[in-house]
Amino acid sequence: MPKNNNFRLPSLKDAQIRTKETVKIEHNLFKLPEPTRNLGVGRKFFLRTYGCQANERDSETIAGILLEMGFTRTDFEEEADFILLNTCAVRKNAEDKVLGELGMLKKLKTKNPDLMFGLCGCMAQEEEIVQLLLKKYPQVDLIFGTHNIHRLPELLYNAMMTKEKTVEVYSKEGEVIENLPVKRFGKHKAWVNIMYGCDKFCTYCIVPYTRGKERSRLMNDILAEIQELKDTGYKEVTLLGQNVNAYGKDLDIENGFATLLEEVAKIGIPRIRFTTSHPWDFTDDMIDVIAKYNNVMPAIHLPVQSGNSGMLKIMGRRYTSEEYKSLYDRIIAKIPNCTFSTDIIVGFPNETDQQFQDTLDMVDYCKYDLAYTFIYSPREGTPAARMEDNVPMDVKSERLQRLNEKVGLYSNMNNQKYVGKVVRVLVDGLSKKNDQVYSGYSEENKLINFTGSQVQEGDIVKVLITDVKSWSLNGEVVE
Ligand code: SAM
Ligand code: SF4
Repeated sequence: MPKNNNFRLPSLKDAQIRTKETVKIEHNLFKLPEPTRNLGVGRKFFLRTYGCQANERDSETIAGILLEMGFTRTDFEEEADFILLNTCAVRKNAEDKVLGELGMLKKLKTKNPDLMFGLCGCMAQEEEIVQLLLKKYPQVDLIFGTHNIHRLPELLYNAMMTKEKTVEVYSKEGEVIENLPVKRFGKHKAWVNIMYGCDKFCTYCIVPYTRGKERSRLMNDILAEIQELKDTGYKEVTLLGQNVNAYGKDLDIENGFATLLEEVAKIGIPRIRFTTSHPWDFTDDMIDVIAKYNNVMPAIHLPVQSGNSGMLKIMGRRYTSEEYKSLYDRIIAKIPNCTFSTDIIVGFPNETDQQFQDTLDMVDYCKYDLAYTFIYSPREGTPAARMEDNVPMDVKSERLQRLNEKVGLYSNMNNQKYVGKVVRVLVDGLSKKNDQVYSGYSEENKLINFTGSQVQEGDIVKVLITDVKSWSLNGEVVE
């Protein structure tokens, strides 16, 4: 067991170092050490996840580990013996939510002094956040980062036995660790990591610091995982990475992502999605594979961030607005039914009215089905955080509102095209709002609410679209 008081704190400076060193892939590293094996027996854990799909997938690993230690899961904080928040650092408001939550949960400790609080994920990788937690949030007992989830049993044991704060965050990513336990939260849809980390260093983004350098999993490991998911009845996999189309570069696989996608398609699982794909790495071979296989879904998340080439250059995105449009045109030419979603940042330092107008023009060009839109949030340690910013907050907010109005317009317009058409829907279950109505997603990633009889969760059914809303479609089963 590690000694206590042996704090290992993060450093953003160390986290930005990239070396050519090949990353080790460990297949047999994880084993529950003897004293941790039954640590959870008679105890419950509560796990809350913030942020992106990478965090969702990490939480499935964390839950898998805790269940192996004998814990049971609860959805109620008041019942828990261990509360763990898996956090996101991508914008300040994501962090504020977590800090607020920590404040609210504090009172539970007065009722149950043995209650353990843990914080992990991207916030744990930030120096200033860990310092803040140590100073102002004494209720937090355990902090660990994104690179040492496999160390959770020892760290939790240490914190519980010594009743002293335990902090272990690696700044440098370690090995790729295979065969960690996993408790999948979905019964028919699964996340599959194909790579970790990001080497793009967009100037506004904290992810390359919190998630480390790009490391690909071996193709055989990924294919074996997907084969097993198919064999156990899963209908859909989403291939995950900050930059899925950089897959294989570190393993010297030529055309890595297109090759992997084709091999995954051949397994024959009914639906394959992937996220996120960076426009710079999006090859024509990828487009051909998506077009060729019916089980690769025609829905692409293609973050644009800005429609202005000057702004894109300062953001470090590596493409111009013309190159992005040309990529969009090439995709649509080969996959005419493809839907597009995107991410857009407004109010980047010194963004002019004209530059913002170019972003609106880009939305007019691509007519996105969905856009995640954000006001720029400075992240300590990134180059953009050192840029002076002359755009007042009310201008940023007004731009966000104008952008959202336009996005809503196109979403609605695109949805109208489906009225009278039949789409294939993977059934998630009964709708959260109405227990007479089912919900699920079409191949194009449209949320469909529909009625029908003898419908089962996990079925793929044909639905006739009768009516549309801005963000969903209504229909009835026709088969
Ligand atoms: N790897 C993905 C990519 O390149 O598009 C995205 C990862 S990031 C978690 C998701 C989105 O958050 C980004 O596409 C960007 O729009 C947004 N984002 C990242 N850093 C941001 C910041 N400092 N302020 C506002 N939005 C930010
Ligand atoms: Fe962040 Fe850019 Fe990497 Fe996406 S590609 S995670 S936006 S640095």
